[in-house]
Amino acid sequence: MDKKSVKDLDLQGKKVLMRADFNVPLDSDKNITDDSRIKAALKTINYILEKKGKLILISHLGRPKGQPKEELSLRPVAKRLSQLIGKPVKMVDDCIGQKVKDEVDGLEPGGVILLENLRFHPQEKANDQSFAKDLASLADLYVNDAFGTAHRAHASTEGVTHFLDSAAGFLIDKEINYFQKVLTDPKPPFVFILGGAKVSDKIPVIENMLDKANSIVIGGAMAYTFLKAKGQEVGSSLLEADMLELVQKTLAKAKEKGVDILLPLDHIVTDDIKAGKNLKTTEGVDIESGWIGVDIGPKTQKEFGEKIKTAGTIVWNGPMGIFENDLFSQGTKSIAEAITESQAVSVIGGGDTAAAVKKFQLEEKMSHISTGGGASLQYLEGKELPGISALSDK
Ligand code: AMP
Repeated sequence: MDKKSVKDLDLQGKKVLMRADFNVPLDSDKNITDDSRIKAALKTINYILEKKGKLILISHLGRPKGQPKEELSLRPVAKRLSQLIGKPVKMVDDCIGQKVKDEVDGLEPGGVILLENLRFHPQEKANDQSFAKDLASLADLYVNDAFGTAHRAHASTEGVTHFLDSAAGFLIDKEINYFQKVLTDPKPPFVFILGGAKVSDKIPVIENMLDKANSIVIGGAMAYTFLKAKGQEVGSSLLEADMLELVQKTLAKAKEKGVDILLPLDHIVTDDIKAGKNLKTTEGVDIESGWIGVDIGPKTQKEFGEKIKTAGTIVWNGPMGIFENDLFSQGTKSIAEAITESQAVSVIGGGDTAAAVKKFQLEEKMSHISTGGGASLQYLEGKELPGISALSDK
C-alpha cells in the first residue's frame, strides 16, 4: 500500500486514536455471539501497546440513529477485549467532551481505553468537521484498522484524518494486499463467483470484473434476473424487472470481451419459502409458475464446482441460495467445498459469504476471508475507499 502503516509511526508515549470495527453481534442479554471482529483488530492493538502508545479505541456498534441507546453500548466489547489482551480496558461513557479528555490525560504508556459508541452522535455519520476535530483533539496520532467501515466517509474514518498524522493498521493492510493481489496480478484462470439477492447492487462489480476475470459464475436470487433476460422462465422467484435491459447489455459486453458467464442449469424450488414445503429440483433451467427458486440445483453445483476446482484465483461474493435455512444451503456449501478442493488463491467477500463459510466450518481452508462486506464489494467495483484514501501517504 502507498499509505503510511502503523509501523511507520513513532508511538512511544503518544496518544493514539485507533478506529476499530467492533460492530459485533449481541444476543438479547448483551453477550457477544461472535468476537471475530475484535480478534481481527488484536494485532494492531497489541503492537501499539507493546510500543508504549497510549491507546484510545473508537468504534460504532449497530444502528443507534444518532441517539444514546443502552443496548448498543460498547461495554461488552471492553470486557471481551480486556480478556483477550490480558489488561484492563477502561470504558468511557462518551466519545467526546471534558470527561473523555480527563480519562485520556490519565492514560499511562501501554494503557488502553475504549470510548462509547460513535454513532450515539449524529455528527459521526454526517462527517461533521467540528465533531471530527473534537475526536482528533484527544490524540497525537490516528490509526484506522476498521476495514468494515472504510467505504464510509464518516467523522471517525475520514474527518479525523484532516487533523492528525494518520496510518493504516495491520488488518486494513492485509485486506488491501489480498484484494490488490487478486485484482492486479491474478493467477489465471480467474473465476469470480457472485450471488446474493440484488442485481442492482452488483452490476457495478460485474462491469469491473469483465476486465479482470476469465469466468463469472452467477447464482443466488440475482441469477433469475439474468435468466429472465435470456428469455427463460423464473416462476415466482425474486426478479428485478427494471434491471432486465441493463443485464442484457452486460451479457453482450461479456460476450464481446470473451468472459464466460455461467448461470444455473437447474434449481431447487419451493411453493412456500417460509414452510420450506414441497421442495423439488427442476428438470431444466425453467421454473414453473407459482414456484420459487431458493438454491442452485445439483447439475449446476457440479458445473460450477468443476469450473471452481481448476481456478488459479477465486473471489466470491454472495450466497447461491437462501443459505440461512439449512434446507436451501446445499448449493452455497457445494461452492465453498469446491473452493477447498482448488489450488487457487481464494478471497471471500465479507458479510453473508463470510457467514456462510463459517457456518460450514471451512474458514481455515480459504486464503482470506474479508471482514468487510460493503467495503470489499466497493473495492471490487474499482472504487476508492474513503477511509483508506484519506490516510497519510507513505
Ligand atoms: P446480498 O446482500 O445481496 O449478498 O444477499 C444476501 C442474501 O441473499 C442472503 O440473505 C440470501 O438469503 C439471499 N438469497 C440468496 N439466494 C436467494 C434466493 N434464491 N431467493 C431469495 N433470497 C436469496
